[in-house]
Amino acid sequence: MSAIFGPIKSRRLGTSLGIDLMPDNVCSLDCLYCEAGKTKIKTVERKEWVPTESVLKELKDFLISNPTELDYITFSGRGEPTLHTGLGEIIEQIKKMTNTKVAVLTNSTLMSIKDVQNSLLKADLVVPSLDSAVEKTFKKIDLPESSISVSKIIDSLVEFREIYSGEIWLEILLLKGFNDTIEEFEAFKKAVEKIKPNRVQINMLDRAPAYDIAQKASQESANLLKNILGELVDIV
Ligand code: SF4
Repeated sequence: MSAIFGPIKSRRLGTSLGIDLMPDNVCSLDCLYCEAGKTKIKTVERKEWVPTESVLKELKDFLISNPTELDYITFSGRGEPTLHTGLGEIIEQIKKMTNTKVAVLTNSTLMSIKDVQNSLLKADLVVPSLDSAVEKTFKKIDLPESSISVSKIIDSLVEFREIYSGEIWLEILLLKGFNDTIEEFEAFKKAVEKIKPNRVQINMLDRAPAYDIAQKASQESANLLKNILGELVDIV
């Protein structure tokens, strides 16, 4: 399996080369809306899920044979990149290979682990997701591994913000009937005020979800949340 994909044109990241560090559908969550399908292995076990050396070789070969201008090299894909223990080492090596900025898209569930924080400190941009700041709703939308709680995620994002000088763009995926109520929006507001991201992005369901129960929220709900959260917000 190739760890490199793209480059793809992304509205927020420009020309972005993707790195997927996880085998198919290994994740700490099993989000209703996941575009990669249902999670096959739900875990918080951190290990070298694919060999770090082979990812680095693939990346090096790509950069040599494709001298295209990239805006970002982005860790994302079909699983959670912070489950891979080689993440920090790979970012460090990328910095030696190129001046291209590095972004990490994360579901935030392992953010309380020091080694994860230290790895993310090396990135230029961290894009954590937060689908609800209400425990019950978070569990309904993201079907987390049993040890995960959203209160711990929010606390760890606050802690990370204090030590990280790069950009944090918080992502919220709005789903009809789950996190689109005024109570949810007020809870998001409190969490955003604590986390202090540089930007907040409201995402809407765009492709077929893993579970049919996941439905797109209305544009009105997204606009209302944007009004509540203020000027940092962008609706995609
Ligand atoms: S965190 Fe991402 S990869 Fe994991 S289940 Fe949710 S949407 Fe899919």
